[in-house]
Amino acid sequence: MKKITSVLLASALLGAALAGCGGNNNAKTDNTGNAAKATNSANSGAAGKTPKVGVAIYKFDDTFMTGVRNAIDTAAKGIATVDIVDSQNSQPTQNDKVDLFITKKYDGMLINPVDRTAAGVIIDKAKTANIPVVFLNREPLPEDMKKWDKVYYVGAKAEESGTMSGQLIVDYWKAHPEADKNKDGVLQYVMLKGEPGHQDAELRTTYSIQAIEDAGIKVEKLAEDTAMWDRVKGQEKMAAFLGSHGDKIEAVLANNDDMALGAIEALKAAGYFTGNKYMPVVGVDATAPAVQALQDGTMLGTVLNDANNQGKAAITLAALLAKGETPTKENVGFNITDNQYVWISYKKITKDNVADAK
Ligand code: BGC
Ligand code: CA
Repeated sequence: MKKITSVLLASALLGAALAGCGGNNNAKTDNTGNAAKATNSANSGAAGKTPKVGVAIYKFDDTFMTGVRNAIDTAAKGIATVDIVDSQNSQPTQNDKVDLFITKKYDGMLINPVDRTAAGVIIDKAKTANIPVVFLNREPLPEDMKKWDKVYYVGAKAEESGTMSGQLIVDYWKAHPEADKNKDGVLQYVMLKGEPGHQDAELRTTYSIQAIEDAGIKVEKLAEDTAMWDRVKGQEKMAAFLGSHGDKIEAVLANNDDMALGAIEALKAAGYFTGNKYMPVVGVDATAPAVQALQDGTMLGTVLNDANNQGKAAITLAALLAKGETPTKENVGFNITDNQYVWISYKKITKDNVADAK
């Protein structure tokens, strides 16, 4: 008896120590000493217990997704125990992680797909195991979303961010006649695109230019290339654009802030942002370094991609589903559209309202 008690005590102490390590939110089971025999059945959900949610991020080395990841971790406190893993930008790796979540009988999954067209396979597996799944940031195809009612998506409307970034250029162009450097009445631009096939890359590219044309401004695309959301690649591509088009370029549009910041580096190296050599550069996300660039006057504007609310909505939804509850506007705290979607709004950010992005 004594032996059993001390084993229990030791495991309770270990549990308490683990609970104190941050990241995990398993205090509830640890304190009762029941952790060892916790048998959260995937089929019945985790009613009454703190649910375990497996979270797979497409890659940890992504500035915006790092913000979302931190938001998930923070918002999970008290509502779910999260196991957050890195898919290292490989869909096969992510599929292995999903298989592991299923073998471990987690109560819910939160997936940021590497390849959004792979969501269908993940949904099939989740449905067979009866483990609800919430996707985020990379939107599954509508036909895949229809495969099961315990599948949700949390994201932001890509079109909206495209339109807003185009409008930032429109406002600048209208207020600054000197922006038309060659005085031909046409806006010569270059585009730094995110990963091809990603809804945010495709739609931001299209809708930003659409917004400029809708404002009655004629445009000429001098160059467009993908820099894969990446700062270093953004710098390299911008240096190449400058090499072939030089001062003919009148504006730079980037699908995210990291690529815009890379472009700004290349522009600085070419003598921009000193004296009166200026280039309007817009991005999307409103990451901390982008906000700094707005304040420095190198970035003209960006669009807030709300990492905090995306992370919060996603883990709240996943925790509810994992407990077998039906998500509603009241218990999630966010509107649910078409029974499966939570859309977080974007917001235009310039140096005049940087506080809104912090
Ligand atoms: C963000 C990018 C990020 C991408 C990852 C987009 O919504 O704007 O910065 O790299 O998501 O999927
Ligand atoms: Ca021009």
